[in-house]
Amino acid sequence: MERECEKKKKLIILSKFKRICVFCGSSPGNKTSYKEAAIDLATQLVSRNIDLVYGGGSIGLMGSISQAVYDGGCHVLGIIPKTLMLREITGETIGEVKAVEDMHQRKAEMAKHSDAFIALPGGYGTLEELLEVITWAQLGIHHKPIGLLNVDGYYNSLLSFIDKAVEEGFISPTARHIIVSSPTATDLVNKLEEYSPMPEAEGVPVPKLDWNQMQEQQVVCPPKF
Ligand code: AMP
Repeated sequence: MERECEKKKKLIILSKFKRICVFCGSSPGNKTSYKEAAIDLATQLVSRNIDLVYGGGSIGLMGSISQAVYDGGCHVLGIIPKTLMLREITGETIGEVKAVEDMHQRKAEMAKHSDAFIALPGGYGTLEELLEVITWAQLGIHHKPIGLLNVDGYYNSLLSFIDKAVEEGFISPTARHIIVSSPTATDLVNKLEEYSPMPEAEGVPVPKLDWNQMQEQQVVCPPKF
């Protein structure tokens, strides 16, 4: 059940986003600045009346951001595979929890329910989720903004690697534009509010693929003889 947003009693910054999906570590990380950044981001979301969609866990940075958004009075939707519930939820669940069959369904549901994506620091899981939504944007499956909260330069080496891939001709400069980054939550959310999807590069149309249509289409390959 959705709770009435308590922020409505406070001054709210108008946002074009209703719900943002946050990918983040199931660990807290070794520095207090990571947890502080998760709470700062939660404060930003609450101040703009934006609800949270996330992986559904109560551990690590996932626990910190979900608790802070919930305490701020916004809706929290956690999407978690049934098999991970014991591992990633300790104690009481926060907000609304939707149990799904597997990781693929988790990512698809998280994407479906969100207007934008933000990655806080995290490990393999966070990177995997982040890179998947970036590649979906590159294919034109969605046109939602994607932000990296680069807390204390945590993502500097990833950003350098991506710049190297552009330099070496594996990522196009237009696709580089998909990733928005900032060291602070306020600036990052402001940038995401202003983001416009991949510009068309010299006559090359932006690809537009419809994920649902793609799943419905049956591709039959001719047998090889
Ligand atoms: P980590 O960044 O490794 O701490 O993981 C953060 C979150 O990503 C956890 O909730 C993991 O369950 C989740 N995760 C890991 N791998 C995947 C995947 N392939 N698809 C979706 N979520 C994943």
